[in-house]
Amino acid sequence: MAILRKASATSPEPAACAFPHKHLLGIEGLSSQEIQLLLDLADSYVEQNRAENKKTDLLRGRTLINLFFENSTRTRTSFELAGKRLGSDTINMAVSTSSIKKGETLIDTAMTLNAMHPDILCVRHPHSGAVQLLAEKVNCSVVNGGDGTHEHPTQALLDAQTIRRRKGKINGLTVAISGDVLHSRVARSNMHLLSTMGARVRLVAPPTLLPKDVERYGVEIYHNLEDGIKNCDIVMMLRLQTERMQGMYVPSVREYFRFFGLTQEKLNAANPNALVMHPGPMNRGVEIDSELANDIDRSLIREQVEMGVAVRMAVFDALTLNNLSDAK
Ligand code: ASP
Repeated sequence: MAILRKASATSPEPAACAFPHKHLLGIEGLSSQEIQLLLDLADSYVEQNRAENKKTDLLRGRTLINLFFENSTRTRTSFELAGKRLGSDTINMAVSTSSIKKGETLIDTAMTLNAMHPDILCVRHPHSGAVQLLAEKVNCSVVNGGDGTHEHPTQALLDAQTIRRRKGKINGLTVAISGDVLHSRVARSNMHLLSTMGARVRLVAPPTLLPKDVERYGVEIYHNLEDGIKNCDIVMMLRLQTERMQGMYVPSVREYFRFFGLTQEKLNAANPNALVMHPGPMNRGVEIDSELANDIDRSLIREQVEMGVAVRMAVFDALTLNNLSDAK
C-alpha cells in the first residue's frame, strides 16, 4: 500500500494516507476517504499548474501512453499535459494510423504496448468494460478515460474538485444531472461519486433518455427541467450523445431545447447562487443556451477544464506510487 505525498516540486511531504489501487477504472467501489484523498492531492496541483514553472520530476523516467479509440479534445490533452507536467515521457498513440486499423485486436494491441514497459496506460474505448479487460492483461497501471456508457472516473473527480472549490463542500449539496443520462458515462461516474460524498442527486431527463435500472443508483428522477432543478446548488448538463443512439430518442432538437435546454430563465428555479456545469463538448442551443454557458458568474465550464489537469496529475501520482508497491 503506497503512501501519498503532497505535490511539491522541491520536497515531497509524506502524508498519512494511502490509495490502495493499481488502476483507476471507475468511481464505483472507491470510498469517500479515497476520493477525498485524490481531491486533496489535486488541490496542490492546481497551484503548480498556475505557477510559471509547471513541471516537476515526480514521474521522471516513467512512460505514459494515451490510447484513445474514440475522439477526445479535453481528456486526451489533459492526460498528456498532466503526464508531461509530472516529468514523464508521454506518448499519444494515434489509433487511426496504428495496426488497430489493420484488424489487430484490443488485447494484441495491449500486449504489444505492454512489451514496451509503460508505467501508465490511459485508455478510452467505445465499449463498456473494454478498459477493465485491457487492465487485466497488462502489467502497468490503467486509467479509464471513458469506456462506452459505463464510467469516466477522472471526469467525475474533476467535477467534484470544481464543486468543492466553489462551494467549499460536496456533502449536503443538491446536484441535478440533466440530459442524455442513458448514454452518459459522465452521469454514471458522477452518480457514484456524488452519492458517496453525501450529495443529493437528481436526474432530469425524458423517460427515453434514462437507463432502465436507474432506481439502483438511489437518485431522484424528474421529467421536467424546472421541477428537477428547483432549489438545486449545481446543475450539470449533458450532451445529447447522438453517436451512441440507434433510432430516435427525442422528437427534434428544437423541441428538446424547448423542454430540456437550460436557459437563464429556467435556471431561476434553482437556488439563486446555483452554478452550471457541462463536461463538454457542448452543443450550444441544444442542451444549454449559449449566453448562459459563457456567463462567468454562473458557468463553471472553464474551471472544469482547468481542474481536469490537476485531478489527472493527482491520479498519476497516486497510481504510480502504488506501482512501486504491492497494490492490486
Ligand atoms: N466528454 C464526455 C465523454 O467523453 C462527455 C461527452 O462526450 O458528452 O463522455
